[in-house]
Amino acid sequence: MPSLERSPDAGAGRRRVVLFPLPYQGHLSPMFQLAALLRDRGGLAVTVLHTDFNAPDPARHPPDIAFVPIHESLAEEEQAAAAVDLHAHFLSLDAACVAPFRAAVASLREKAEDDGDVACVVLDSNWLAVLAAAAELGVPLLALRTVSAATSRNLLAFRRLCDDGYVVPVVNDERRDEPVPGLEPLRVGDLVRYDGWDVEKSCEFITKLSDAMRVPMSGVILNTFDAIEADELGKLQAELSVRAFAVGPLHKLSPETTTLRPPHRGCLAWLDAHPPRSVIYVSMGSVAKVSRKVFDEMAWGLSASGVPFLWVVRPGLVGGEDDATVVPQLPDGVDMSRGMVVPWAPQREVLAHPATGGFWTHCGWNSTLEGICEGVPMLAQPCFSDQTVNTRYVTHQWGVGMELVKVFDRVRVGEAVRELMVGEEGDRVRDNARRLRIQANQCVASTRAIDDLVEFVRSL
Ligand code: UDP
Repeated sequence: MPSLERSPDAGAGRRRVVLFPLPYQGHLSPMFQLAALLRDRGGLAVTVLHTDFNAPDPARHPPDIAFVPIHESLAEEEQAAAAVDLHAHFLSLDAACVAPFRAAVASLREKAEDDGDVACVVLDSNWLAVLAAAAELGVPLLALRTVSAATSRNLLAFRRLCDDGYVVPVVNDERRDEPVPGLEPLRVGDLVRYDGWDVEKSCEFITKLSDAMRVPMSGVILNTFDAIEADELGKLQAELSVRAFAVGPLHKLSPETTTLRPPHRGCLAWLDAHPPRSVIYVSMGSVAKVSRKVFDEMAWGLSASGVPFLWVVRPGLVGGEDDATVVPQLPDGVDMSRGMVVPWAPQREVLAHPATGGFWTHCGWNSTLEGICEGVPMLAQPCFSDQTVNTRYVTHQWGVGMELVKVFDRVRVGEAVRELMVGEEGDRVRDNARRLRIQANQCVASTRAIDDLVEFVRSL
């Protein structure tokens, strides 16, 4: 039986929601934000199950959230894969979590008589074997999707896309600009993919994610909102057999921040010393990797742009380096006089800072939402997964960003950074970003979506 790490009786007597996040940065934050909303706005008791891998620190969360470690066991070589092959690591972790996850839920339900009752389990939708196991527990199941509605539709349609020949290797493919029927404005080159894996392996993984969307469940929760995806949400709802609750943007609705690395707060003082909208903030999120060649061109291009920059260079950012636990070295001789490099930034505060005038991003969904909500125009450099989908929406649908040219060299990088910060195209996307921010904030003012979700959970 799993041991209770803290507050086993937190929220006793109230209906309880059991949440199980995927233990990666981009998935932990939205799940904890949802947990806080269910507790604060819904009056529900909340238990968070968690892995030993990237375990959250209960002391950093409100005392009335109960934490239960499930103590998965991974072989040493499977653990080591985390630094080099994220997906291989994830698949091992998913398999290793099935049995302890079942045991943890069973144990919580045994206690249910004197501890309120378990209304439902909320899982990150990217769990695979764990999600299938959860569907067989006899407890209502909801999945939190930490991607956009557009990405969710792309995944749901994945088998059809394969059958119809839309899933192709995209590098240099002449079909990359071809529209994908039913998923416009997405083109062949924008579809979810995993570079670095061969097409077969990538398709196998995406098919699993797609099939997981058809696991029987009671409802789906999405971290998105009408102001940016009304059309996609309408279509997704028509394609799903269960209710979809668009409760985003979660980071604006809940103050919870979960960070796996300590943020370098000194960069905020550095920003204070800069004029409004003068600095470009550069971050590729928590897991994306770039090659040494691309990294070096980024460094040279940033320094040549003449634009002040705050750059997150985290350990592991450069793929193939000998030691993925140390911060990659900048190329010798690059001029850093206008730049600040940090291993991890307090990103939401950086984006909200008046000195930040642009966001060079990999377009992970959280970063995209954070950029939109602060009205910061973006320079998109998608790496893998849903980042290409998000980039298409950033550049084409919402017009709040520009995509970095495919041919990646220091001259073009410098030009793109200048164009975003002081060019005409930059002005255009900045105006759009300001407008979209206002619309996003109007959505934030409404509690309807989360109230609907709470009512639904109470009805289960
Ligand atoms: N983030 C941060 N500091 C950094 C880099 C990233 O706090 O230096 C946060 C960012 O605010 C976002 C998350 O990490 O909430 C990254 O999630 P996203 O979905 O954008 O990308 P992923 O890391 O999943 O690829």
